Amino acid sequence: MRQTLVAGNWKLNGSLDSIKQLVAGITAGAGNTGDTQIAVCPPFVYIPLVSNLLADSKVAVGSQDVSDQESGAFTGEISGAMLNDFSCTYAIVGHSERRALYAEDDEFTARKFAAARKAGLTPILCVGETLEEREQGITEAVVARQLDAVVKLEGIEAIGEAVIAYEPVWAIGTGKTASPQQAQDVHAFIRTKLAGLDQAVADKVQILYGGSVKGSNAKELFSMQDIDGGLIGGASLDAEDFLAICRAGT
Ligand code: PEP
Repeated sequence: MRQTLVAGNWKLNGSLDSIKQLVAGITAGAGNTGDTQIAVCPPFVYIPLVSNLLADSKVAVGSQDVSDQESGAFTGEISGAMLNDFSCTYAIVGHSERRALYAEDDEFTARKFAAARKAGLTPILCVGETLEEREQGITEAVVARQLDAVVKLEGIEAIGEAVIAYEPVWAIGTGKTASPQQAQDVHAFIRTKLAGLDQAVADKVQILYGGSVKGSNAKELFSMQDIDGGLIGGASLDAEDFLAICRAGT
């Protein structure tokens, strides 16, 4: 039985005050979320604060990105070991905004995935197609290519120690959620593809859905056979909205 994981990606949002309030709101309600696993991914600079505030709670902390490098002359980068120093559990890699806005390709994403693992973090590997790719009928080919780059570099066992987030790009921040069946179809494709390489990995890996998840649609999405929770953008910035999604996983 795979546990449900709900991870909030705060992106480039928040201030010292608003983040303290958001964390207080989440901790106040986190006790009523059953055995749903919860994580939040603040902007880098707030990670030490958020890790401290969440130290005695069930809510884990993750980063939104991680460097592919361990140390050295890489201005602006943050390594996996640095994130580990501040109690991060997860690191998102390959978010579609990184892929599209910062030209991070499959191979670079795979190197970030490897760096996260090497530092003891659990990568949350984002995959997903654009609207154009969906309309061309190449959704599965795109997702397969994104997964293959990681499997090629790190091996299939590594996928079993990671989390996958299927995030159709056309559903991110647009209010257009994939229907539960549309999402399930791609999740099932991912699991079947992994099963072809290693059944145990396929059975074990949590596959999250991301793209305009809200309290009102989370239950239906999470009840699908191969959907093991969600990666949440906009709705993770409001404690009540985020907790409603967490409760939908119970
Ligand atoms: C995301 O950016 O990962 C995401 C799912 O965003 P939103 O929930 O706002 O669509």
